Amino acid sequence: MASDPDCIFCKIVAGEIPCFKLYEDAETLAFMDINPVHDGHCLVIPKAHSANVFEIMPEDFAAAARATTKAAKAVNAALQSDGINLIQANGEGAGQSVQHFHIHVLPRRMNDGLLVNWELKPGDRDHIAAVAARIREFL
Ligand code: AMP
Ligand code: ZN
Repeated sequence: MASDPDCIFCKIVAGEIPCFKLYEDAETLAFMDINPVHDGHCLVIPKAHSANVFEIMPEDFAAAARATTKAAKAVNAALQSDGINLIQANGEGAGQSVQHFHIHVLPRRMNDGLLVNWELKPGDRDHIAAVAARIREFL
């Protein structure tokens, strides 16, 4: 499976750095974003490294899409969100900061005023872990 030793998400896949894991199968991993825009903000990635939609193998995208439907339903059930955005950035101009293909599962609240190119703001780790536990109950 393709892997980049300098890629932070490949290191998460390899277990070299920790994550708040939600879901894993042979081809994909879902874990909490550590700079959450809202509670429940998580990421779904194919385990195989590719930088973006221009490089990804269609089967890896398909596997990530399957895992995303599972994660989105669990986030929605756990957080009782008012809606969910799936966001996937490709390239600097699109706001991509990690060069390993990923899909944001981003719960929304009515009138939350969120601008889509948000700034990264560290979340509280204990709180993120607690929210992850709530979501896992639905997976
Ligand atoms: P993007 O800006 O669309 O490339 O999104 C990358 C996301 O990865 C950002 O929302 C970061 O908060 C998130 N992120 C970066 N490093 C980590 C990490 N070690 N664990 C979890 N999320 C991360
Ligand atoms: Zn990678």
